[in-house]
Amino acid sequence: METFSDIKIEAATQYQKIRDDFPILKKLVYGKPLIYLDNAATTQKPLQVIKKINDYYTELNSNIHRGVHHLSEKASKEYEDSRNKVRDFINAEKSEEIIFTRGTTVAINLVVSTYGRKNISKGDEIIISTMEHHSNIVPWQMLCEEKGAILKVVPIDDQGDLILEEYVKLFNERTRFVSLVHISNSLGTINPVKELIEIAHKNQVPILIDGAQAIQHMPVDVKELDCDFYVFSAHKLYSPSGVGVLYGKEKFLEAMPPYQGGGDMIRSVTFEKTLYNDLPFKFEAGTPNIEGAIGLGAGIDYLLSVGFDFVMAQENNLLAHATQVLSAIPEVRIIGKALKKSSLISFVVGDIHPHDIGSLLDRQGIAIRTGHHCTQPLMQRFGVPATSRASFSFYNSTEEIDFLAVELKKIIHMFS
Ligand code: PMP
Repeated sequence: METFSDIKIEAATQYQKIRDDFPILKKLVYGKPLIYLDNAATTQKPLQVIKKINDYYTELNSNIHRGVHHLSEKASKEYEDSRNKVRDFINAEKSEEIIFTRGTTVAINLVVSTYGRKNISKGDEIIISTMEHHSNIVPWQMLCEEKGAILKVVPIDDQGDLILEEYVKLFNERTRFVSLVHISNSLGTINPVKELIEIAHKNQVPILIDGAQAIQHMPVDVKELDCDFYVFSAHKLYSPSGVGVLYGKEKFLEAMPPYQGGGDMIRSVTFEKTLYNDLPFKFEAGTPNIEGAIGLGAGIDYLLSVGFDFVMAQENNLLAHATQVLSAIPEVRIIGKALKKSSLISFVVGDIHPHDIGSLLDRQGIAIRTGHHCTQPLMQRFGVPATSRASFSFYNSTEEIDFLAVELKKIIHMFS
């Protein structure tokens, strides 16, 4: 029979194995061991992903979809295999519903420029929330300016939760679209997306979920959620930069005009008329980020091999520990205290500017993010120009968080 201490040893062994998968975590910064607590900005990449990209360039490099030669066929197959992996990872119905983009930002811009331009007109309303990333605010604002449409904003309470009664009240006969974040990159709030989607659908309004901060932390099932669009970036998912995913229900994607014109997105071209390609290629003009998409497949394989049970247990533990040790420092004010939070903490420390905190921690090898985190309206809601943000991955440890707290106390002492 397995005892409690056997289970602890097993978990410790698995943790060490995982640390070893990330070569960058062994790096010294200013002669100090790197403590990487900026995972909400981007995650580090495991050897398995790095090797896959290396293999691509040493074994496969070729343009895809157009060649009949060996390399092109193999690269095309790997690229499409990755698409199938993404489909299975988020439990989409079909591969045709998975569009590779440059990232979350481009995926949202794609929906705004195609679905939005086609379906939204003067006086129509679009719902977003106070806690959106700029990439889920500005494209909609640009559309509103172009069309004379109106942006409605779901408010949040002092804990950092969406006020659901206010969300419900925002719907009326002019509401045409809802676009909300799954997990806030600045507060860590995990929004009740299933409920938010149900409410949008009760009002016959389609909804996009920005999953940039959710996809790496918990299983996401787009069929179960019943969202119309779901977007995320590979670089926050232990995978390469410059690639991301737009999931869309087939009925929406079919009805949307193409985003960009060029190679691969066409069936035939004459000077009189161009016929567009089928899904998903209709939305993938030009040579895509082939190694990025293939790397994303490897990133998904890696995350699944670690397992969400481990990821969620470890990250919940890190969040609880960080909340405890940072709350114990009287000068620290945590911004964002939602009941359901993902593994990040935003905080301000008395009058000390977050940039000073970030720079001084950096000298000790600790990487955190400081600033407005591309959520300026949210900073205004909390009356702060910026915060410091420590964000954790399953490869972080409670010892790293303790070190952060010790260094933070030294900085507070220095400024007092
Ligand atoms: N939405 C959220 C919630 C994010 O955290 C980010 C990245 N910080 C984005 C959108 C934009 O992602 P990207 O820069 O990868 O396009």
